[in-house]
Amino acid sequence: SRKPFIAGNWKMNHNLKDTFAFIAGIDGKLPDPEKIEVAIAAPALYLVPLVHHRGKNTYKVSAENVYFEKSGAFTGEISPEMLAAEGIEYSIIGHSERREYFHETDEDINKKAHALFAAGVTPILCCGETLETFESGKTAEWVTSQIEAGLKDLTAEQVSKLVIAYEPIWAIGTGKTATPEIADETCGVVRSIVEKLYGKEVSEAVRIQYGGSVKPDTIAELMAKPNIDGALVGGASLQPDSFLGLLSF
Ligand code: 13P
Repeated sequence: SRKPFIAGNWKMNHNLKDTFAFIAGIDGKLPDPEKIEVAIAAPALYLVPLVHHRGKNTYKVSAENVYFEKSGAFTGEISPEMLAAEGIEYSIIGHSERREYFHETDEDINKKAHALFAAGVTPILCCGETLETFESGKTAEWVTSQIEAGLKDLTAEQVSKLVIAYEPIWAIGTGKTATPEIADETCGVVRSIVEKLYGKEVSEAVRIQYGGSVKPDTIAELMAKPNIDGALVGGASLQPDSFLGLLSF
């Protein structure tokens, strides 16, 4: 069965001093990596320090975004090869904040997925609907189209390693967690799309996280659901105690 995977997404928060304080705060306190996989997604500046100062800590390190080209004249961007060279295991792609504020399209996100796999970095592919789409009952349709576009031309082997994060936009940073039932239902929709495209074995292997106002006291009921394999957590991942609280579900 699938190993639970809890990832923090710091977004545009913290500085180097905070990063070291965070590492010190979780030092020696993470759960057995055989039982729970843990990752920290941080601003690009702090990825290398997170890797180099990991010590005996077993967290994985994730970028929050990446570009799809290997190298060259793309001022301001970071490539999958650069992440791989520094030992960074994951990159979030297609977060709703990137889609909204930086106009990323499904096509860009699909290119990023291909480029990451080519470099040996695992994508955490985000999807999720607005409140308006949710209220008009079109969530399944919306998420289906994001996932189909995001997975375009990926192989079964790649998709079985992929992580997908379902993050309803109306639940991000709002304190409104989707009910475990709603979260599980849409994660189930995501799994059924993967099954339709790649078959049962791949759909049973792909890990699907829920994200959106997950807190230490709401994670257990989410993790108890059959289609939810983990969480992608913003606000509650920033401080060591709260982050550790997310890991004791
Ligand atoms: P919050 O946990 O702060 O709602 O953020 C969720 C998120 O967007 C994680 O990527």
